[in-house]
Amino acid sequence: MLFDTHTHLNVEQFSEDKLEVIDRAQEAGVSKMIVVGFDHETITNAMKLVEEYEFLYAAVGWHPVDAIDMTDEDLAWIEELAKHPKVVAIGEMGLDYHWDKSPHDIQKEVFRKQIQLAKKVKLPIIIHNREATRDVIDILKEEDASEVGGIMHCFAGTVEEANECLDMNFYISLGGPVTFKNAKLPKEVAKEVPVDRLLVETDCPFLAPHPFRGKRNEPSYVKLVAEQVADLKEMEYEDLASATFDNAMRLFGIKR
Ligand SMILES: [Zn+2]
Ligand SMILES: [Zn+2]
Repeated sequence: MLFDTHTHLNVEQFSEDKLEVIDRAQEAGVSKMIVVGFDHETITNAMKLVEEYEFLYAAVGWHPVDAIDMTDEDLAWIEELAKHPKVVAIGEMGLDYHWDKSPHDIQKEVFRKQIQLAKKVKLPIIIHNREATRDVIDILKEEDASEVGGIMHCFAGTVEEANECLDMNFYISLGGPVTFKNAKLPKEVAKEVPVDRLLVETDCPFLAPHPFRGKRNEPSYVKLVAEQVADLKEMEYEDLASATFDNAMRLFGIKR
């Protein structure tokens, strides 16, 4: 049993063959998945998918790259959607200093507003962080995000930074990069973070694991991530899979 905690089955890369992709995931043992919405179109699509498939759940939020586009109406819409029984997290949200579409101060403001919203609706948050780890951790501290906790998605920081996130009630989620030969930090993090605080994800269609690097990623490949993490932790694959599955169920408050 595997839980892919970060998919974008709601984007156009899956519009042609979504059914086959979902079938392959189930054949690989991926029995639950989160569909992450991050703007108008992808949130709308995520809600459609989770209403159609019992084993899919949604996270709704606004991506930092597009922070400049988010209006107060969008925030109110996300708050309304948070009441839906299949919306289990707010996000993805955070900071992304790689792309320069949205100025840093606007990204920070939109990030803070979404943390405050999550605390209001009492849902965990999913954090997107690219090249902004220090600012992300500082804002999580200042906003008392530990009250809701959540996920550091596709974590790329150091073991020390991972520990700071664990102290704030966050889980560390590892994706495709942990399988790359030259990915030193994710491998160290996989070894050091306790198994009861680890999650696995694909972030599909992005970041496909080895040997599919550069190709379209899909949820069935989360098995390759879990196998790599089990190897690094010197654990049986089945034990790693069931531990990360249980972690996700607990974090998202999903009843069996
Ligand atoms: Zn992301
Ligand atoms: Zn994402």
